[in-house]
Amino acid sequence: MNPSDNNDLEQDIDVRVIRGDKVPCPICGQILIYQQAEDGKHPAIICPNEDYSVLLEVKQNDILEKLGLRKKR
Ligand SMILES: [Zn+2]
Repeated sequence: MNPSDNNDLEQDIDVRVIRGDKVPCPICGQILIYQQAEDGKHPAIICPNEDYSVLLEVKQNDILEKLGLRKKR
């Protein structure tokens, strides 16, 4: 696979997970989860092991919250 395709591949992960495909985490291989927006959370693709996440498009106002997502629970 061409390394320059990585960005496209990552965007494709979002789309595939949202469509309901079982997409393995590129880090650990667990099936990724689509976390829907609720209670101030962002819609995101997350790994159950929390070693990988893709935030879906958010408004500019949400950037601080986006940074907050880096915090461990
Ligand atoms: Zn993972």
